[in-house]
Amino acid sequence: MESTQTHCPYCSLQCGMRLEPAGRGAREVTVAPWPEFPTNAGGLCRKGWTAPALLRHRERLTSPLVRDRATGELTAVSWDEALDRVAAGLAELQERYGRDSVGVFGGGGLTNEKAYALGKLARVALRTSAIDYNGRWCMSSAATAGQRAFGLDRGLPFPLADLQDAAVVVLVGSNLSETAPPAARHLDALRENGGTLVVIDPRTTPTAARADLHLQPVPGTDLALANGVLHSIVSDGLVDQDYVDARTSGFEQVRRLVTGYWPERVERITGVCASEIVALGRLLARADSVIILTARGAEQHATGTDTVLAWINLALALGQPGRPHSGYGAITGQGNGQGGREHGQKSDQLPGYRRIDDPVARAHVARVWGIEPDDLPGPGRSAYEMLVGIGTGDGVRALLVFGSNIVVSAPNATHISDRLDALDLLVVADFVMSETAARADVVLPVTQWAEETGTMTNLEGRVILRRQVLAPPTGVRSDLEVISALAQRLGVATGFDHDPEVVFDELRRASAGGPADYSGIDYDRITREHGVFWPCPDTGADDGTGKGTDDGTGGGTRHPGTPRLFLDRFATPDGRARFHAVEHVGAAEQPCPDYPFYLTTGRVLAQYQSGAQTRRVRELDAAAAGPFVELHPMVADLLGLVDGEQVRVATRRGQTIAPARISAGIRRDTVFLPFHWVGANLLTNDTLDPSSKMPELKVCAASLERVSTVSGPA
Ligand code: SF4
Repeated sequence: MESTQTHCPYCSLQCGMRLEPAGRGAREVTVAPWPEFPTNAGGLCRKGWTAPALLRHRERLTSPLVRDRATGELTAVSWDEALDRVAAGLAELQERYGRDSVGVFGGGGLTNEKAYALGKLARVALRTSAIDYNGRWCMSSAATAGQRAFGLDRGLPFPLADLQDAAVVVLVGSNLSETAPPAARHLDALRENGGTLVVIDPRTTPTAARADLHLQPVPGTDLALANGVLHSIVSDGLVDQDYVDARTSGFEQVRRLVTGYWPERVERITGVCASEIVALGRLLARADSVIILTARGAEQHATGTDTVLAWINLALALGQPGRPHSGYGAITGQGNGQGGREHGQKSDQLPGYRRIDDPVARAHVARVWGIEPDDLPGPGRSAYEMLVGIGTGDGVRALLVFGSNIVVSAPNATHISDRLDALDLLVVADFVMSETAARADVVLPVTQWAEETGTMTNLEGRVILRRQVLAPPTGVRSDLEVISALAQRLGVATGFDHDPEVVFDELRRASAGGPADYSGIDYDRITREHGVFWPCPDTGADDGTGKGTDDGTGGGTRHPGTPRLFLDRFATPDGRARFHAVEHVGAAEQPCPDYPFYLTTGRVLAQYQSGAQTRRVRELDAAAAGPFVELHPMVADLLGLVDGEQVRVATRRGQTIAPARISAGIRRDTVFLPFHWVGANLLTNDTLDPSSKMPELKVCAASLERVSTVSGPA
């Protein structure tokens, strides 16, 4: 094995790295920097450096497991036996209860090829409408808002490095320094270049600590804050009226609405001083270039879509989107949070980011798949709706889970675990025994990261390629092989190749002409150009294979890809970005005498998502071995707590106990729990955003109680 350029298995930055042989027989690899890859320029966080630890981990699953009906234990079986049992179970349930009795649940960490194949498995082999994925809990509010305002959803409409040359960057609910440390280099460069960093977060995170201005609003009030800042800009006569007239529609309604968000009123709602609201408005309006970025802190709310729209309104009034080093963007979280929502594992979409209820889109994709458009199912339920529907009249009775650890990551997780237990058949494909796999009837051991090839689309909309470096352990198959084998057993003998490049070529054809057009992208080109930004239509001669004319230089007649969107027009029918008048509502659950605090959740540096991977890496576990409850010193005094003492956090849905971490950097009315362990999501609120179906993971009402460490008399 030689040194191979690839990408980190974890977050949406998809940092470039090299894998090099280590130890005897090239059975192990070590990580080295790949400085030429522009998104991270050689920088990696400790998760990236330690990623190979999972490849030969002792807890690796290497045999299919089937639950013995007599003993209730999971027992090793052959692949044929496991796949036969799954296919027979699915067929029997569909025969008795209809096609939609089988559901498919994907993940935002799956490659584009897997996401595409999973969507095709659901629509062509199972012919079920019941498919969705965990990105619904991560990115859907920003996606919905982007579609409404700009006519297109791509997390960042510009390369991440553009941050360096902005005059002001505003991060709303993002802790980049901890969640994606190499990205923080761009924030440091911004400040070295004389730019200003503004962070809006209820906690003084490491990102907030390096900001020039840090505002700490009450959780769930970001929308009101955005409206208040816009009010201030309107009052000062600082709206970019030429831009608004030339490139947008709907401003007048918003202008009228924000008259009701005068600074003193917004101070009462958000807790942010009126003078700071006015000062932020002036700072932004006087800057040449402003980038506003939202992340989960602003988005994971029952009003997440409207909250993002409020920040987009502000960016539009400042005349920023579509200008150099300016605009609005959303920072995706999962490794393929972007591509995972473009190619068909979302309940309302077909490949290429097409709508499943669009007759033209259905006809195009059906042609690529060799079926009749009428044979394609319609839109299904969103992720959380599908899960809570289990056990109800028309709910799913079998669930195939790929790349997701639902038991830890779902809101109101006790309820969801009960729902999973009510299934007739739960099948989980994973490479370790996650909390969800442990509840399954059938567990299928699959490849990971460096054992397979596939594309991902990072937070910039840059399509990148991970190359296979190692053979997988004996007994393990790729997700594409599993999907192909299941399709065959379900009676679809062709059209489910397990070679990722073949699948990608079909994805290109299916995406051609859609909003997320990948038809001009291929593996060789990604390698040569260090990634290609979509949309990238195939502008070469059409020979019917979906491949364009390629002179081998990356030039020729090929489309160059689209690093920056919206330079001339937005993707709406009239080419104008749309303002939306959105009112503050606040969190669905407000503090009350029984639950007097806001609970918010988030990530820590050394762990990733549900922790199924990172909790198994020794160095990462040593750095962050368990959850904690961050709370203000005044709260600690109130409860008689010292740092490290156990504290019980309870909400209307459940409770958990963790050591207190006392910090003067968090609001007095707010406590924070990281969500990488079972616990945080036992507490979170499952109220959904009506448009995006995003649960309100980011805020709910909670109580705190000191847990006595002194045992009472026996
Ligand atoms: Fe991996 Fe994200 Fe860390 Fe980069 S920032 S090394 S992609 S986890």
